[in-house]
Amino acid sequence: MSGINHISTEQLRLWDKRHVWHPFTQMQEWERDEQIIIVKGEGCWLIDTDGNRYLDGVASMWTNVHGHCRHELNEALKEQVDRLEHSTLLGLASEQSIILAARLAEITPPGLDRFFYSDNGSTAMEVAVKMAYQYQVHAGHPERSRFITFRNAYHGDTLGAVSVGGIGIYHTTFKPLMFETLQAPAPYCYRCELGCNRLTCNMECVDAVEQLMVHNAGLIAGLVIEPLVQGAGGMIVQPPGFLHRLRELCDRYDILMIADEVATGFGRTGKMFACQHEGVVPDIMAISKGIAAGYLPLAATVTTDKVYSAFLGSYAELKTFFHGHTFTGNPLACAVALRSLELFQDDNLLAALQPKIARLKQGLEAFETLSHVGNLRQCGLAAGIELVENRETGAAYPWEEKVGIRVSLEARKRGVFTRPLGNTVVIFPPLVISVDEIDLLLSVLKESIQVVTE
Ligand SMILES: *Cc1c(COP(=O)(O)O)cnc(C)c1O
Repeated sequence: MSGINHISTEQLRLWDKRHVWHPFTQMQEWERDEQIIIVKGEGCWLIDTDGNRYLDGVASMWTNVHGHCRHELNEALKEQVDRLEHSTLLGLASEQSIILAARLAEITPPGLDRFFYSDNGSTAMEVAVKMAYQYQVHAGHPERSRFITFRNAYHGDTLGAVSVGGIGIYHTTFKPLMFETLQAPAPYCYRCELGCNRLTCNMECVDAVEQLMVHNAGLIAGLVIEPLVQGAGGMIVQPPGFLHRLRELCDRYDILMIADEVATGFGRTGKMFACQHEGVVPDIMAISKGIAAGYLPLAATVTTDKVYSAFLGSYAELKTFFHGHTFTGNPLACAVALRSLELFQDDNLLAALQPKIARLKQGLEAFETLSHVGNLRQCGLAAGIELVENRETGAAYPWEEKVGIRVSLEARKRGVFTRPLGNTVVIFPPLVISVDEIDLLLSVLKESIQVVTE
């Protein structure tokens, strides 16, 4: 036992409630309830101060890839920390960040070779938005300052990222602080804003995007999209071909495509990056969550030579990209990220995902018979189970009833940790999860949904 473990659970709970302000959390409720304190991780499991084990059904906020406390990653981190913990990229280069960029360039969609590091998904998106606009300025089009965004999109919580997002409950308060965007309908087939039916539609939602492009011709810098699935919006899976058609439109109207792969990158969808399912190469791509396997904060905004070269010029031309974060390219995070990429190879992880994805798909079928499951959505090893008050009409549960949260609390009693998105139960486990663990996750979630809704 190390020194810190001498502090009792009771004391930790007290200090937590007294001093720690938790994200996306109503602290009045948090302070009232008894909270779990995690002290250990093993594979897909989290272990609390009392030794209780919880299957990590959301990969510790969608970051974990190879399991908790994975030996190889621990070793890579220990090795690096004895050589160099941090050195800045402002005025100096550092070994691990160089190697990582070169390795990532081999696996990102072709042409995405220029890496701008930061340390989280929001900053990666801030960088993307500023980069896209400054590119337009250098390309002689300062009037191209607007962005096409999607309702229900999530790109992070800093103000630029919030501006290009579209989730009312998170974003409305900050409206006076946000810049305006051209918002397109969400590709949310279960609740299509345009009243279309997926079986018969022609993706009229794509036509709506084109309309925005036509009406704002010559004024748009970029289009911002979460490829294949809107994550925080409720695991909303886009119709096949949607992304590809957006790429065609961006080409036709000369608009930069910014793909936010923060959640989808690093194998989540079954391929390394979601864009690869549709053969799409974005102009700018943001990556973060899985990049360092859930160990340390790290992010990158990746772009093409075309965008990068627009920033080249003499010092006096002021074409420099004036943006940067203190911990850019942190060597510890980069060392773990590098080892994580090797583990993808060593474990043949992408191939190993296929039977797991199939098992998840098969397992989800059992939810179709539940009387309050309105819509099941899956993309790779991510899924959303949308619970509804009335299955016939699709009427949602009032959000105040906290149905999603109540299901999660039931699951927790049964040894599974998951965090819902509104009334959607989320499945987003570490990619290393076994088929047996998937079965366990699903059976606990099914029972928990039944307890809450039936
Ligand atoms: C989580 C997320 C972000 C924000 O990342 P943070 O590291 O939480 O700032 C941005 N975009 C997408 C798609 C995400 O899922």
